[in-house]
Amino acid sequence: MTRITIPEGSPFGLANLPYGVFSTPGTDPRVGVRVADSVVDLAATLGDDIFARPSLNDFMAQGRARWDEVRGRVHELVAGDVPDDAVHPVSEVTLHLPVEVADYVDFYASEHHASNLGRLFRPDAEPLMPNWKHLPVGYHGRAGTVVVSGTDIVRPSGQRKAPDEQVPSFGGSRRLDIEAELGFVVGTGSALGESVATDEFADRVFGAVLVNDWSARDIQAWEYVPLGPNLGKSFATSVSPWVVPLAALEAARVPLPGQDPEPLPYLRERADWGLDIEFVVEWNGQEVARPPYREMYWSPAQMLAHLTVNGATSRTGDLYASGTISGPEKHQRGAFIELTWNGREPLEINGEQRTFLADGDEVTLTATAPATDGGRLGFGEVHGRILPAHDG
Ligand code: CA
Repeated sequence: MTRITIPEGSPFGLANLPYGVFSTPGTDPRVGVRVADSVVDLAATLGDDIFARPSLNDFMAQGRARWDEVRGRVHELVAGDVPDDAVHPVSEVTLHLPVEVADYVDFYASEHHASNLGRLFRPDAEPLMPNWKHLPVGYHGRAGTVVVSGTDIVRPSGQRKAPDEQVPSFGGSRRLDIEAELGFVVGTGSALGESVATDEFADRVFGAVLVNDWSARDIQAWEYVPLGPNLGKSFATSVSPWVVPLAALEAARVPLPGQDPEPLPYLRERADWGLDIEFVVEWNGQEVARPPYREMYWSPAQMLAHLTVNGATSRTGDLYASGTISGPEKHQRGAFIELTWNGREPLEINGEQRTFLADGDEVTLTATAPATDGGRLGFGEVHGRILPAHDG
C-alpha cells in the first residue's frame, strides 16, 4: 500500500482532487484523480466500471448527488493507504482529453477585453457594442478540434487581407495569437425546449478547465463580418487535462464586479458565481500576463442560462468558455493583441521584440484559486507549441 505524501502548499491537495483521463504504457485510458504529483486510478479502486471509460462523460451524466458521493469517497481513499498499483507518478502517465466534447461555445465576458478590442478595431466608435451589457455575447465553436494540453498546434493557413492590401492572399497566419480563458464542462444537460435557470448552475456544471483559444487574427479579421469567428478560431482550442470540480471552487466564489444596467430577469443571479482565479500566461517560459478571472463581467451561471434560454438543448460534455480574461491593467491582458496593442507595442521575450506567435514558440497558461482548506488549488496547465503551416 502507498500513502501519498502531499507537500505543504501543493496545488493538488485534498481540497482540490481534479479528475482526468490517463493511461500508462500498454493500458487503456481511464479515469484518475490528481493528488500532489500522483495520479490515483479510480477504475482500479472504486469498483465501478464507469471509471474504466476513456472520458468523464458517463460519470458526469450521473448528476450532482453522485458527484458529491464520489468526491467524498475519493477524499477518503486518497487520504489513506492506496493500493500500490493504483498510484502513478504524473510524470509517467499520458494525459488524454478528459471529456468527449459535445458542443463548444465561446463567450466574450470580459468588459476589459471587449473594450480593448473595440478601441483597437473601431477607434472612432463606442468600445462596446449596444448589446454587450444586456447579454453574454458568444458564438458556436468547433467541438471536434478541442485538444488536450501538450498537443502541437499547426499554424493555420487561410485567407488574409491586411487593411492596406487590395485583395486577399492565401497562406499561413501572420498574426497567430492566444486567448487565456476558463472553460466550463456541462455534466447534466437539458432537454430541447427547456431552459436552465441561473440557480441550477451547480447542478448542471461539473467543473472547470483552462482554455487557450488559439486565434489567427488576420484570418479572423477578414472573415468575421457579418457572422462572427469561423476558421480563424476553429483550427484548434487547447484545454487543460484536469477538470476541477465546482465543489472545489467554493472558497473562490466572489460577487461579480457589478452589472449596470441590471440584466433581464432570466440572467439575474441569486448566488455569487464570480470566481477569484488568478491566471499566469507564459510565452517561451517568460511570464507576460496575470489575467484575473474575478474581473469578468458575466458569470458562468449567466452564460449557461443564456445558452439555453431559447430552448436549445445542452448536453453532457458541452464545453463553454468565458472568452479572453483581461483585467484593467496592462499586465492583466489575456491575449497578445491586447498586450502588444495590435502589434504596435512589442513585448520583449527573452531579449527579442515580439508581437504574435512564431513557429516553435510555446505558450503555457496556469491558474490558481483559493481552496477550502485555506491554501490555493491549481488547475495544472494548458500548454501548446506552434508548428509551421503545412503550406510552408
Ligand atoms: Ca475566445
